[in-house]
Amino acid sequence: MSEREDDLEQQTIELYFQQAMNNVRKQNVRVQPTGFCLNCDEKLQPEQLFCDMDCREDYEKRVKAQAQRVY
Ligand SMILES: [Zn+2]
Repeated sequence: MSEREDDLEQQTIELYFQQAMNNVRKQNVRVQPTGFCLNCDEKLQPEQLFCDMDCREDYEKRVKAQAQRVY
């Protein structure tokens, strides 16, 4: 492997690492209620995040799938 390829690989690893760190930070941020279900956009009480457990599970699955796509 040439030095040039080594550099490129190093940059790619750093980029992936930064993206992974950004994802971790995003997930640690507490989700703010918007007054609508985060999964299906149904109108809710202002302090609610999801209309039911199914929506909550769907949303969590989607977030996890998105996080895994980075790697
Ligand atoms: Zn919902």
